[in-house]
Amino acid sequence: MTDRDYLKKLRVPTPNDPLRVLVSSCLTGIMCGYDGTANGEYPSVLKLLAYENLRLIKFCPEEFSFGSPREMCDIHGGTGMDVLNGKAKVLTESGKDWTEGMIKASERMLEVARKENIELAIMMDISAACGSQVIYDGNRFSDQKKYQIGAGVAAAQLLRSGYKVISQRDYASLEILYSKIDAAHVVNTVAKDHHEIEWYKDYFKIS
Ligand code: SF4
Repeated sequence: MTDRDYLKKLRVPTPNDPLRVLVSSCLTGIMCGYDGTANGEYPSVLKLLAYENLRLIKFCPEEFSFGSPREMCDIHGGTGMDVLNGKAKVLTESGKDWTEGMIKASERMLEVARKENIELAIMMDISAACGSQVIYDGNRFSDQKKYQIGAGVAAAQLLRSGYKVISQRDYASLEILYSKIDAAHVVNTVAKDHHEIEWYKDYFKIS
């Protein structure tokens, strides 16, 4: 089932029975980024804070294992799913191996998802932990900076357990979510998900 088909089938929530959505903490303005900031402002997610019929469960996997601020890290030799399968590593910019800590953080995030019985996760794309569609391929500070299609370690942990994960850039999917929590919302029918934009199609040579 595509993300959009899944979102269309979500129930219409109420304040007494809100939709349960796990979210990367930084997307809600919490300053848990590697540099002690919130990694910028993301109105597509911040607007969700205003709805009583949606409960955002905030979690930052990297802060859980490594604290904030911390070094920047990226996945080397594969994707987050490869890290979980023992085939790739998470290394910091100075070369420290954070693979074990990142896997523990992803397991903790999965525990939170199960305990809260979440119905959706919205996660910060590009992050080695939270990316859901695109992540760096190796060190993002290298001269040969590259992107790859794939999920970060925590997102991969959720995906392989069957949870639906979208990113803050999946604007078409988010439009469906907005319409579920706000009957007056007028859906923007030209909004696109991240994998539909020109940059993505050009970079990954997808026609
Ligand atoms: S690990 Fe996830 S929640 Fe934490 S700062 Fe990075 S993207 Fe945000």
